[in-house]
Amino acid sequence: MTMQERSPGLRARARAWSMMTLLLLGCVPDEPDPPEPAEGRSPPSTRAAAATVAWSEVDSIDVDAFNADLEPGALTMDVGVYFPSNLDPGFDLVTLPRVMESLRAAKEIYAPTGVQIRLLWVKTGELDPRHFAIRSSEFPGVPNGGYVNMYEHARRHPSIPTQGALDAFEAIIEPTPEAHRTLFLVVLQDVFYPFTEVAEGRNWTVKSVRTGGLSWPTYSYVGTMPERFRGVITLSNLKRPDRYRRTIAHEIGHKVMNVSHEYRETHPGHEVYADGGLMLYGDGEEIPSGEAGRWHLERLRLSPFLYRLGADGAREWNADYREEGHYYDPIYGEYVVHFDAAPPIPEGW
Ligand SMILES: [Zn+2]
Repeated sequence: MTMQERSPGLRARARAWSMMTLLLLGCVPDEPDPPEPAEGRSPPSTRAAAATVAWSEVDSIDVDAFNADLEPGALTMDVGVYFPSNLDPGFDLVTLPRVMESLRAAKEIYAPTGVQIRLLWVKTGELDPRHFAIRSSEFPGVPNGGYVNMYEHARRHPSIPTQGALDAFEAIIEPTPEAHRTLFLVVLQDVFYPFTEVAEGRNWTVKSVRTGGLSWPTYSYVGTMPERFRGVITLSNLKRPDRYRRTIAHEIGHKVMNVSHEYRETHPGHEVYADGGLMLYGDGEEIPSGEAGRWHLERLRLSPFLYRLGADGAREWNADYREEGHYYDPIYGEYVVHFDAAPPIPEGW
């Protein structure tokens, strides 16, 4: 273990620690990070390396049957499922049948776009329980002051995955040559996502939302997620009927359209409740096209996670991101929306 290998984790913890001081001043409860480890204690990355999961395929899932309707030549995305076998007995928010039901629904939802979903595997195995619950990213330090829109702000101040999240992915995601092009559906008990919000006046606060699914999108984690983990999507609640049909399709949408919660006239935000589009919180399943549809269909079809299967079985991949996959990455050309920033607090503060 060299100093170079240790220092990023230590720096991250130092950042988290100084942030904790700020958060305590701001009265945000329950900072989950432990205090600085004592000298000589193994850093988290060392412990993670010893806990890589020995995955095995679930016998009861017929992958070939799931893929029976795939057509060569059509745009396709590859999806692998990791479902830990030893989750806590009290956790019943995600079951394997629900995952498969939601994945089948995703196939239906994407069918009108001409994009098909190919299931690679459904695997199970024992995961180190300390990975069951994670915080997705470091607490955001700089709220958007309203001079640039949320995508521009995210490029300047991207989400940074926590060491705990990276340790979990290191244990879970098997290294394959196409890992950076594969969508990994990972079932975890809890993934907390921190974000900033105006509290009152000119004061912001940091909140953490307990996610039912989190897509870890590249428009948010711009250049901060190791490439081999950029396809990870976590699933933590498929129990409610209004969740399980759309959840996987919606989370895949964040990844492959590379957009937040937005639809036609609705500019993106963290939590937008309305019906219509797949990318809002509501009942909608539409993936609209054209400028009026915010280019969702066009962006989907350009995704680096998609390929065309040749007659010889070779995969012809879409072009990869050129600027780490921010919303305005040059691969999208004109298929972007330039919208104004919204002032987060009233003038005259
Ligand atoms: Zn979402």
